[in-house]
Amino acid sequence: MAFYKVTYNEKYRFATVHNYGCTFRCPICSYKLKSGEHGKPGHAYPPPERYLEAEEIKGVLKTLDVDKLYFMGGEPTVAKDLQEIIDFAKEALGVPSHLGHTNGSRLPLPNLKGANVGLKAWDDGVHLAYTGKRKKRIFDNFDRAYRAGMELKANVVYVPGLVDLDQIESIAAWIAGLDREIPFHIMGYIPVPGQKYERPTAEQMKAAEAACRRHLRHVAFSHMDPESALHLSGRDDRFAVTRLL
Ligand code: SF4
Repeated sequence: MAFYKVTYNEKYRFATVHNYGCTFRCPICSYKLKSGEHGKPGHAYPPPERYLEAEEIKGVLKTLDVDKLYFMGGEPTVAKDLQEIIDFAKEALGVPSHLGHTNGSRLPLPNLKGANVGLKAWDDGVHLAYTGKRKKRIFDNFDRAYRAGMELKANVVYVPGLVDLDQIESIAAWIAGLDREIPFHIMGYIPVPGQKYERPTAEQMKAAEAACRRHLRHVAFSHMDPESALHLSGRDDRFAVTRLL
């Protein structure tokens, strides 16, 4: 579990350090879209040919003029060099670090400015079936990160038959108990090979958005099919990046 890739978006002035591996074992992990039916949960596509040393990553970050550094996964907090690079970005470069996505297993972290946390389910049994882990630690971590002053966003995947509207609205209501201004994104499930669940309909997505807006001020949703999810850079130039390492 370590970093294997560094990318750069010149237009939006951010760099991203990418990790391989995750602490959860979600059968419906969207990383499986890249690997077809041979992907394994949590390691949903083949491992990289090599991992990067912290010094290599720091060396390339030094050459960039960026406003923000992101870490992506799998689950980026499993990378052993994460804290060292966060500290380097803040102290040597003056650049704030954010977890572009995280399952919330390890929050808050020193010098980490923000995180976009995927909250998987409200019901503990559903959370366990979905991820292989109990929900308490994740929600407790989110609460602690908020109270530590981190800039938080949250997201949830709407999976009809697994994570239904009641789960999603309960998560939104819980977040609102911390702060109604926390941005919340509902992602329509994108079917992955070998799983029985279907995409939500457009009407279901709109109903979920409306239900969450009863609690939170900033609610959005995305409803992609597998083809669009695999070609994000053609739809959104924030995904149009150059690989540096
Ligand atoms: S937490 Fe995210 S990256 Fe990890 S297995 Fe689940 S869906 Fe995949």
